[in-house]
Order: sequence, then structure tokens, then C-alpha cells
Amino acid sequence: MQAISQPAAAAPFAPPAGWRALTPAYDPWDPIRSLQRFGRHELTSVEFTVTHLCNMRCEHCAVGDSLTMTEAPRVPMDLVFRRLDEVERLETISMTGGEPTFSMDTVRNVLIPLLKYARARGIRTQLNSNVTMDYERYELIAPFLDVMHISFNYTEAEDFHQVGFARTGRNVRLETTSKMYDRMIDNARKLSQGGLLVSAESMINYRTYNKITDIHRMIVEMGCQRHEVHPMYPSSFASGLPAITREQMFEAVETLLDNRNPDVWMLFGTLPFFACSENDEERRLVGRLREESNVTVRNDPDGRNRVNVNLFSGDVYVTDFAAVPAFGNIRNEKLDEVFANWREHPMQQAVNCHCPVANCCGPNLLVSDMYYRDADFTKRQAIP
Ligand code: SF4
Repeated sequence: MQAISQPAAAAPFAPPAGWRALTPAYDPWDPIRSLQRFGRHELTSVEFTVTHLCNMRCEHCAVGDSLTMTEAPRVPMDLVFRRLDEVERLETISMTGGEPTFSMDTVRNVLIPLLKYARARGIRTQLNSNVTMDYERYELIAPFLDVMHISFNYTEAEDFHQVGFARTGRNVRLETTSKMYDRMIDNARKLSQGGLLVSAESMINYRTYNKITDIHRMIVEMGCQRHEVHPMYPSSFASGLPAITREQMFEAVETLLDNRNPDVWMLFGTLPFFACSENDEERRLVGRLREESNVTVRNDPDGRNRVNVNLFSGDVYVTDFAAVPAFGNIRNEKLDEVFANWREHPMQQAVNCHCPVANCCGPNLLVSDMYYRDADFTKRQAIP
């Protein structure tokens, strides 16, 4: 009895026994897996926007414009579960906001039911949270969750204050935000110690590109099992922020590879570097990323194997590229049908390339719009 109960007590948030561990060799969010398996992009991933409330106003926030002070009524959860039941090849569910744990109503009536549904169906889950709220609410969620995804772009409380509260529209005191910063670190550490995969994401942008190694070190010290790194593409809410050059981005990635802790999984995403580049240095970096152990480059799920469902309007988005508005609504359409329509859309077709030797299925629309307006990816190929 003792022997059975002890590991559970030591790791109460570990995945169920017998479930395949999420590792660099098994990342069900990567659309390349279903593309390899089915020969075309299939819907395997659904993301829900579960709230527009948040206690922060990060300057880079992708949904900053839609954050509100009060919440509209949600679509009924039985409709949500019916639409999920219909997704034939569902493998992952993500939940995002706002801050999904901001209201206990969302925790009790949306997050926990969705997580329990996923566990019953063998689906892997991710929650995007700033983990600055009371630990007790994360403790309620963690036993049913696979990945706690947090943002971490700081080396000290001052950075957190500047990045996270610049747009609150009121004067938030450093003393107050420092407490939140400490709580975030403490929560991430406790969740990791409990056996949950805490994945911290940093953006490479004008604030972080020259201190990305220090940020990485702090993430490792918090006990996070994975460090996710994406360039920041200044779009919509963040469009006023300065952009960095591709060279600065290149150097930040290389510096990180030189100085990282090799025991921690590094996951890069939405990089603007491809195996079909005519630039030798970029191809060398792509090759290095492929060969280093514990390093993966995830193809972007948006517009590939994932849709986003807004739980208030029921609208379904197929990509976070602003030029593509909602593509359907769960009130009157099945998700597989919305996705099938998107798959044939000319915008999706324009970046629908696939080079098996490079494990690559093309740029996302944001990257292609920012750096490759004149490139026809359907005519490019990985250069050996
Ligand atoms: S899949 Fe597309 S982006 Fe990737 S290497 Fe091939 S042509 Fe380039």
C-alpha cells in the first residue's frame, strides 16, 4: 500500500500511468505528425478562448485588443462537447484567454470539465496561464492537465512590471507587481515539483534578444521541463513595438543553443529560417537545430492542424493571421467541416509546402507575410 501511494503523493500532477510522456520525440501539437500519418493536414487540435478577462496587460499580448472588464455569456458547454465528440482525429486541446484562471466560474465550469473530458478520451491538454493567481486554483486544475504553458520574458521583477503592466491604463505600483512576480515563480516551481510539465515561453524581441540566456537560466531554476522560444511578430495589439532584424533573431537563437542547459527541452517555433533558404548560414542553423539533442522546432499548428473556438461568440478561427476573419461558428457547423473548407482556401494553399527531409511543413502566414511576401513556397524545396 505504502509503495503504491508514495509516488502519487510525490507527483500528484504527473500524467496517468501508461500515458506516453511528452518529449522531444512525442509532441502531439506538431502538425507534421498528422501530415505524415494522413498525407494531408487534418484537424487534430482545438484551442478554446475561455475568457477575455485578465489581471495583466502585456505589451506584446496577441489578444490585447479583445481583453474586457466584464464577460459575455458563454455558448452552452453541452454544445462544446458535442462539437468535440465530432472531431474524429482529436489529439490535443488547448485553453487560452485572457487569464483562464481569472474567474473561479471559468475554472469550475469550463476548465475542469474540459480537462476531465480530455482525460476520459485520452486527449492531451495545455493551459496558457500567467500563473500569477493564488496557487489553490492551479492546484485544482493540475491533476487533470498535461502542460501548463506560461510566458516568461524577465530577469527581474522590474522587467515583469514594464512588460506586463505598461498598458493597464492606470498606475500599478512596482511593489504590487513584484508580489505577483514572486508568486508566479513560486507557483511554477510548485507545479513542476508536483510532476506537471511546466513549459515557459519566451519571445525573442527588442527587450529580450540580448538577455535570452539569462532568461533561460531563470526558467531552468524554476524547474520548468521545457523552454519554448518564438520570435515576436509585432502584429495587432503589439504593432507599435519595435521589430528586431532577422540577424539579431538569428544571433539570439545561436547564443541560446551555445549556452542552454542541455537537460531541458528547448522548443522553437515560428522561426523565419527554413531548410530551403538560399542563405548558407540560415541553412546551417536549421541543420544545427535539427541535430542538437533535446531541441525541437515545432511547425506552427495555426492554420495547419488546429482551430480556435471563441467560447462566447462560438466563432471558429483557423489562424491568428489578422487577414483571415472567423471561418465558421460552432452553433451551426462541425469543426471538421470548417477545417475542410479552410484546407482548400487559397491562403492556406499558398504556404502548403512539405519537405519530409527537413520535417518542415512551411511557414505560418504571419512569417510569410513579414519576411517572404514575394516567395512562392510551393515551388521551393529543402536544399540538402
Ligand atoms: S517545407 Fe516549405 S518552408 Fe519548409 S523547407 Fe520545404 S519549401 Fe521550405
